[in-house]
Amino acid sequence: MKANCWMGRNTVEVQEVPDPGILNGHDAIVRITSTAICGSDLHLYDGYVPTMKKGDILGHEFMGEVVEVGPRVSTLRVGDRVVVPFPIACGNCVACRHEMFSVCENSNPNAGLAEKFMGHAPAGIFGYSHMLGGYPGGQAEYARVPFADVGPIKIEGDLPDEQVLFLSDILPTGWMGAEMCDIKPGDVIAVWGAGPVGQFAVASAFLMGAEQVIAIDRFPYRLKRAERAGARTLNYEEVDVLDALRDLTAGRGPDGCIDAVGMEAHHPTGPVHAYDRVKQATRMETERPHALREAIMACRNGGTVSVIGVYGGLLDKFPMGSLMNRSLTLRGGQCHVQRYLKPLLGRIRNGDIDPSFVISHRMRLEDAPRGYEMFKNKQDECNKIVLTP
Ligand SMILES: [Zn+2]
Ligand SMILES: [Zn+2]
Repeated sequence: MKANCWMGRNTVEVQEVPDPGILNGHDAIVRITSTAICGSDLHLYDGYVPTMKKGDILGHEFMGEVVEVGPRVSTLRVGDRVVVPFPIACGNCVACRHEMFSVCENSNPNAGLAEKFMGHAPAGIFGYSHMLGGYPGGQAEYARVPFADVGPIKIEGDLPDEQVLFLSDILPTGWMGAEMCDIKPGDVIAVWGAGPVGQFAVASAFLMGAEQVIAIDRFPYRLKRAERAGARTLNYEEVDVLDALRDLTAGRGPDGCIDAVGMEAHHPTGPVHAYDRVKQATRMETERPHALREAIMACRNGGTVSVIGVYGGLLDKFPMGSLMNRSLTLRGGQCHVQRYLKPLLGRIRNGDIDPSFVISHRMRLEDAPRGYEMFKNKQDECNKIVLTP
């Protein structure tokens, strides 16, 4: 089959690789009909996530048709149309029983590697480094899906791929980002990063009753998309974000601050950005955490900072004094996608949200290298790319 493979920093290649097969009775094989490139794939592309190997198949946002099931799969049949969540979860461990699927204790065969970096291991993730399981991803014609009874959700009826594909990651991720802010009526929520996840966080915050949502980015076309979702917008290259947020909240600060940026943030002031860039490039820190620092400083006393942007390891100049002295709550996590599949599919069906609005480009799988380049450099107002194998 054809698959998009990581070949080193800034290089991906569509290669001919062996078809996946059933390795465990709980596996299913899915023929992929739609797959997407994620902002977090760019962290791999840029070489900032440790334990990638040449030839690794990328991709963790995919859906398709079940073409084979293992003897112990009971809920899926050949021919079912499914969306596959990006975290792999067993459904039986303590974490899964508490619906903390992205920290499943049984799905990461390289747990020892992850423990070295993080103390304890999170779940395995499709196409996202060996530390997170070394699973081949879904930017391919086929994928092996472990624990097939736990993850994939069946799509019945005629909803097109483009309306349900993002259940695999970015829609529930944006939703969880807002949910972690514990939004009360009248709340003001600020979202750093107006990419697709940020756009879904904006939409989710409004559905949860936020009075005002403020989106922060530097690309006008992305801010325009957030505006269309009802957000006020701040371009951090034009205004001082902390001042502007104080002005918009009677001096108090937003009740909830969502970091939808993660480890490769930009900073409008040269010296601070240079400091983080140099330390990241020399592997002295793994992150450029500007958005996170700013979210903490901006948040109102007693408010919540919700981190859904991806971080990989260690960071510098973390404003712990601000967090502690002002009674902030810091929450984060890879999305527990399985928890949100049914309710969010329900909201798509009843018209509360049509996630296809984030798509800016559609390409063949073969064009993945061009897609990565375009997405990385934000060419042609690139917002979200869907690939068809
Ligand atoms: Zn993703
Ligand atoms: Zn589990």
